[in-house]
Amino acid sequence: MPAATDAVIDRARLRSLIARERHAFVAANPRSRELHDRASRSLIFGVPMPWMAKWVGGFPLYMASARGNRITDVDGHEYIDLSLGDTGSMPGHSPQATMDAVIERGQRLGGITTMMPTADASWVGEELARRFGVPFWQFALTATDANRFVLRIARQIQRRPKVLVFNWCYHGSVDETVAVIGPDGITTAAKPGNVGPQVDPAVTTKVVEFNDIDAVRAALAPGDVACVLTEPALTNIGIVLPDDGFLQALEEVCRETGTLLVMDETHTISIGPGGGTGTWGLHPDLVTIGKSLGAGVPIGAYGVSQAVLERIDADEEGDYLDWGGVGGTLAGNALSMAAVRATLEHVMTVEAFGVMTERATRYAAGVQRVIDDRRLPWSITRLGCRAEYHFYPTPPRSGGQAQSLIDDEFDDYMHLHTMNRGILMTPFHNMALMCPDTTDADVDRHTEVFAEAVGELLG
Ligand code: PMP
Repeated sequence: MPAATDAVIDRARLRSLIARERHAFVAANPRSRELHDRASRSLIFGVPMPWMAKWVGGFPLYMASARGNRITDVDGHEYIDLSLGDTGSMPGHSPQATMDAVIERGQRLGGITTMMPTADASWVGEELARRFGVPFWQFALTATDANRFVLRIARQIQRRPKVLVFNWCYHGSVDETVAVIGPDGITTAAKPGNVGPQVDPAVTTKVVEFNDIDAVRAALAPGDVACVLTEPALTNIGIVLPDDGFLQALEEVCRETGTLLVMDETHTISIGPGGGTGTWGLHPDLVTIGKSLGAGVPIGAYGVSQAVLERIDADEEGDYLDWGGVGGTLAGNALSMAAVRATLEHVMTVEAFGVMTERATRYAAGVQRVIDDRRLPWSITRLGCRAEYHFYPTPPRSGGQAQSLIDDEFDDYMHLHTMNRGILMTPFHNMALMCPDTTDADVDRHTEVFAEAVGELLG
């Protein structure tokens, strides 16, 4: 824990509260525990997807049903969901318009996946172009794949071998991005725990700190970097906002050095209908996104500028249509396209973003009030309809700094305490996300629970 917080909070007390909350969690969730025991006999780590093993109670809650911003688990508890499938369900769980489109396509019309496009795809391409400013789009099934495809495209048309990412970024399980700044503070190293990298990331990747424009300039100067891949604000090591002018300087350095700029808007779509790119007036050459576009129906998307498309067209060596390493059988399938169209047209609207952002503003103000009342050396950062509190007084300016300040014990306590009182936070962040169904009362309930958690800590 950061020193400032250690000075006001007794760690022994923190541990005893965690033990008490764990007890309460186990006692309240016998059916989830039973299902987890059974799953442990057939699923790796007892879960269908590794991150699900990261819930803090010792086993994950099993979901029975979910609608809007509410989840009901198999033991019959109802939760206010501030996790929203780590952004996959930012439009709310199973919004009616999306479900109508899924039923229409999957059941009434039929044809979940074929080798033929549907009219929905061009509607979606036009809408993404309008929101993000890059005119030409194609689809994958995940944001990970969208990022993998654009890294290939960038290297191919640039005839440059490397990519640049920021320290402690996350862009999915993309090999080139599972990298950090090494212990010497300069060279690239594999992220600790990197599982069987096929190539040492030092060969493929340069890593510098977010908000360090001089380091970016130095890394791009040799002209061997095909593209910079970044979020407009980091969201996966907590939220790290860009300094004033940083993104504009980044665009300029990319232009000067002939480096392409890729904005990954998978999480930063929380900033507004066109993510950071649309809301902050950015000019990336390529944009990637996934997760929320289809309200959870699998989708990834990548968009390119006119200039990038012309270079793809003119490139006679790259095989973009067949075996070149871009594409996938189910990508662009009719079900995904129908779900995305309905979600963008009827759910993730300008009006919805207005409401969601107001809720997040209320959420951040509630948390800040508790921090101020208790004179805690803590802070909160908001990014559109997403907000995250930190156990240190000043929000971090880089991924490295944010990473150095993580305190798992503290996170565990806050997550367990809120979960036991009917509120779900994302298992690996102190991050809250609002969907169109989140109400003022839900936000105020969180403030109340947060105040209670803090009160018990301080004694
Ligand atoms: N980009 C960003 C910014 C992400 O946060 C994530 C996932 N957290 C991804 C890409 C990858 O998304 P997926 O796991 O759905 O492929």
